[in-house]
Amino acid sequence: MARCDVCGNDYRLSFEIRTTSGDTHTFDSFECAIHRLAPVCEHCGCKIVGHGVEVSGRFYCCAHCARRAEPDGAEIKDAAGTPPS
Ligand SMILES: [Zn+2]
Ligand SMILES: [Zn+2]
Repeated sequence: MARCDVCGNDYRLSFEIRTTSGDTHTFDSFECAIHRLAPVCEHCGCKIVGHGVEVSGRFYCCAHCARRAEPDGAEIKDAAGTPPS
């Protein structure tokens, strides 16, 4: 049993995540892990749950948000999916 760092639930299936800074956190769910650790999109403010887009140290949830917020954003392309043939 381990207690979740976010909600305090002492749950038998709790798990640990070690971040790049070396800190270790305990969570009872992915929801709580996202709440504590996921970066926030600098344009729309949502939690970045997928791969996201990084431009010069700024994080966005998607290429659309990066295009809207960055001065040279028109050059930022979505990388997921199948390119047109
Ligand atoms: Zn929790
Ligand atoms: Zn966004």
